[in-house]
Amino acid sequence: MKPDEISSSLLENDSFRVLAGCIEVRNSNGRTILRAGAARVLPKRAQVEDIELDGGIIPNKHWLQLALTKLALSKGDTCFCAMYPHSEFYDPEKEQDSHNVSTELKERNLKTWSTEHISHCKSCGQCLEVHGEGGWHVPWWKWSELDVP
Ligand SMILES: [Zn+2]
Repeated sequence: MKPDEISSSLLENDSFRVLAGCIEVRNSNGRTILRAGAARVLPKRAQVEDIELDGGIIPNKHWLQLALTKLALSKGDTCFCAMYPHSEFYDPEKEQDSHNVSTELKERNLKTWSTEHISHCKSCGQCLEVHGEGGWHVPWWKWSELDVP
């Protein structure tokens, strides 16, 4: 998707296109592209947020809010790893596969289906602690930034 396509899809009154744009924003770390999208979309934020998106166990509004937060973040210089604590649906192993972080499994509890990972952002070096729960219908991960001296 090109920058104008991201913003066009978010500005459309079509929930399928809006969600496609949200996923595109989620998966993109191209600051130039995201900034261009932010410049077009954020001034119309209220209009964008007004669309009915439904969703299943995870309300689709979550993806929209996440996309809008990331677009706002892209305007500054904050590293995109600051997005992780904003959502419980960043899988640390998938983030590693996408070369965004390096992730180490510290503990897997087979009784509770929970996991503990330590991840390091490959862009800024930020260390994050990730607590995961996998025993429910939808697995989730809670990311917390760690201060490493
Ligand atoms: Zn980072």
